[in-house]
Amino acid sequence: MRRVYLDMVGCRLNQSELETFARQFRAAGYTLVETPEGADLVVINTCTVTAAADADSRAKARQAYRAGAKQIALTGCWATLHPREAQALPGVSRVIPNDQKERLVSQLTETYDLEPLEREPLPGIRHRTRAFIKVQDGCDNHCTFCVTRLARGVSRSRPIEAVLADIHAALSDGKDDPAGGSAAKEIVLSGVHLGAWGQDFSPPLHLRHLIQAILQDSDVPRLRLSSLEPWDLDERFFRLWENPRLCRHLHLPLQSGCAATLRRMARKTTPEQYADLVATARALIADVAITTDIIVGFPGEDENEFAQSLAFIQQMAFAGGHVFAFSPRPGTAAARLANPVPPSIRKERSQRVRESLSTAAQAFRQRFLGRTAEVLWETTRGATPQGWMLSGLSDHYLRVRTITPLPLTNQISTVRLMSLIGDEIMGEVLS
Ligand code: SF4
Repeated sequence: MRRVYLDMVGCRLNQSELETFARQFRAAGYTLVETPEGADLVVINTCTVTAAADADSRAKARQAYRAGAKQIALTGCWATLHPREAQALPGVSRVIPNDQKERLVSQLTETYDLEPLEREPLPGIRHRTRAFIKVQDGCDNHCTFCVTRLARGVSRSRPIEAVLADIHAALSDGKDDPAGGSAAKEIVLSGVHLGAWGQDFSPPLHLRHLIQAILQDSDVPRLRLSSLEPWDLDERFFRLWENPRLCRHLHLPLQSGCAATLRRMARKTTPEQYADLVATARALIADVAITTDIIVGFPGEDENEFAQSLAFIQQMAFAGGHVFAFSPRPGTAAARLANPVPPSIRKERSQRVRESLSTAAQAFRQRFLGRTAEVLWETTRGATPQGWMLSGLSDHYLRVRTITPLPLTNQISTVRLMSLIGDEIMGEVLS
């Protein structure tokens, strides 16, 4: 059994996160150990509130290295602000910025999870800035790798009235609160197969009808969509973005850029169709961020198929994405397919696709430097001598950070995007 040692510097927030990591590592089959000596993995949640905290963060990483830890991962405020310095410390193999903390354990344990958070929506308000509203459940497709479909049954849509009632509740919640209110500023529509919304109605409706109703009947400042299967969309759908309240971000799972692999996955799209769809979206939605999911090492994916897939992924110039190394889920058709790909090759391919997506994502962010964006501040990451370190998202799903003496959480500010720090953009609040 693999042994993990968890350590931290700093505040209670870091402490509570460490406790969450501990639960997640245990669930992933790891043993928690009390010292870094001989640990397979050390995770340090760093801090930057003072120069001493910086020094402590670096010292803990060096101690772990001297103690013989096989792998060291750094996260937290110091590692987020100084990713290059963190990566250069002896023995450090991963630097995971704060905005990826939620996925830290799954990234480090390579836990195969085809159900990103967006597909496991919590009804109602998830936290005060963004409310995840579930509008659909289940799926009628038969993607051969997918266990979600097995667990969730056929597609069922929630009526427009029920969705609107949830949205009105999320937008009004806490408005009368003298402490400032906690009404959500952004609504995220979620579903297992969101694009299938309305197809089970008689007569059938399309997701665009739901979006039109929400934009018309609510004053939601920002409306975002979670994952959408590419075969559900068309030009009429993208024309909805003429309304600026729709966030210019589409998460379109590709899974593979190779036509033969896609056929074995039973995906209802080809690389050509996908590329056409992306071209249409980009023509109709200015600077739209398109992100994706990719599975590598699907059974039968030989060098040639992988090369095709990687070339297509590069061609798409995504704004980011999640990469999963295939692992068979019991009960799925893919679990019975021949020609499994060895784990070492799966791992190597994951790394190559991650690097490719990371390069493309950085190029996407670069385009926005010097421009302004509307940023919804979500969290306070910590304190610095200059003020609070805030983190938020633009409607293009750019992760933006600022340091400000003002408590702006759950507010939308106009921000000048100044510079890149790792995979975040440092911004200056203008209003
Ligand atoms: S469309 Fe999505 S939820 Fe449905 S089977 Fe395919 S991967 Fe699973």
